[in-house]
Amino acid sequence: MPLDTSRTEPHPEPAATHETRRRLEHARTTSLTQLHALTENTHTNEQLMSTQTSAIRQTLQDIDTAFARLEAGTYGTCRTCGTSIPEERLEILPYTSYCVTCRHRTTA
Ligand SMILES: [Zn+2]
Repeated sequence: MPLDTSRTEPHPEPAATHETRRRLEHARTTSLTQLHALTENTHTNEQLMSTQTSAIRQTLQDIDTAFARLEAGTYGTCRTCGTSIPEERLEILPYTSYCVTCRHRTTA
């Protein structure tokens, strides 16, 4: 009996969702690598390191939020105005929760 049969899902994910998941995973891996490199490098100025570390931690938090939004079906819409975030923007920043207009208005 092949083990694969149990992995069949009743509702297969749309290709776009799968692609988004892949992008988010990639972004998370990149952030974790950066975080690791940063903490490994003892020559880095402490102040600078703490600034960069918290920026990366923020990104990782954004990625978690994006995953949750993907599950909830709200991924890709702006949290402030509710418009769809352009695909080009999501390609560059897959974990963003705001459209360009709102991003400039908030610091989040
Ligand atoms: Zn917006």
